[in-house]
Amino acid sequence: MNLMDISVDFWCVGNSSLLQPVWDNLRLNYRDYLRSPLFPIVLTVSSYFVLCLPFLVCDIMEDKWAWIQQFKIQPSRRPTASTLLHCAGVTLYNHVFLVLPASVAQWVWRPPVDLLDQAPFLMELIAGVIGNLLLFDFQYFIWHLLHHRIRWLYVTFHAIHHNYSSPFALATQCLSGWELVTVGFWTTLNPVILRCHLLTTWAFMVLHVYVSIEDHCGYDFPWSTSRLIPFGIYGGPSKHDVHHQKPNTNYAPHFSHWDKIFGTYADVSFSASLK
Ligand SMILES: [Zn+2]
Ligand SMILES: [Zn+2]
Repeated sequence: MNLMDISVDFWCVGNSSLLQPVWDNLRLNYRDYLRSPLFPIVLTVSSYFVLCLPFLVCDIMEDKWAWIQQFKIQPSRRPTASTLLHCAGVTLYNHVFLVLPASVAQWVWRPPVDLLDQAPFLMELIAGVIGNLLLFDFQYFIWHLLHHRIRWLYVTFHAIHHNYSSPFALATQCLSGWELVTVGFWTTLNPVILRCHLLTTWAFMVLHVYVSIEDHCGYDFPWSTSRLIPFGIYGGPSKHDVHHQKPNTNYAPHFSHWDKIFGTYADVSFSASLK
């Protein structure tokens, strides 16, 4: 058996994917739920609140759990109860007046999707998720740059997200309706452009929600995505924290390359110097 055979065996079992049992279980037992046009919305909204929760607990318990302070990017700043409530209110408002009508429209006008019998190969899923993150990173970089450089766009649509110079998890979706709609549009469209399997699409959606929350969580834990991915390829919470302090820098939401190419990259040492 050569090296290629070993690597193929790692990602698949015979001709079928390692993910086949998981996919079969999902499609055979939860078929009607998964086919509903509402499913991706329910998945992303519920992931958002569930994944915000651990960071919210850290914010609330910070006084009692002193060890958490060492990971705080701006240790002297913490969200007050009123800022947390304000962000929760904006998120609730956007969900009631935008996400809910969009969900109903999807439910009424979009036919249920077909579920393929075949699961994606694990390597295909990983490549699809990375491809989606890279494509979104580029789209949002351009959007974000324009919304900072053109004053009317900034004031009208993006300023609300910059109410806080020390971000926290619930600030992630403290956005204008236009920004939420744009982000939702790309998150839905990109997997279609890249012709991803539904399992890949859902994996991307949940991971995208997580890394967006992590960008805003205000903590740089040893398991932060930016620490797991080497060579400064990935920005992560420290880099986005710098954007909230120096808003004309670090426009890319996830990776570092676009800011480096366009000369808008600011090193995270700026953030560290605040400790
Ligand atoms: Zn932000
Ligand atoms: Zn911004």
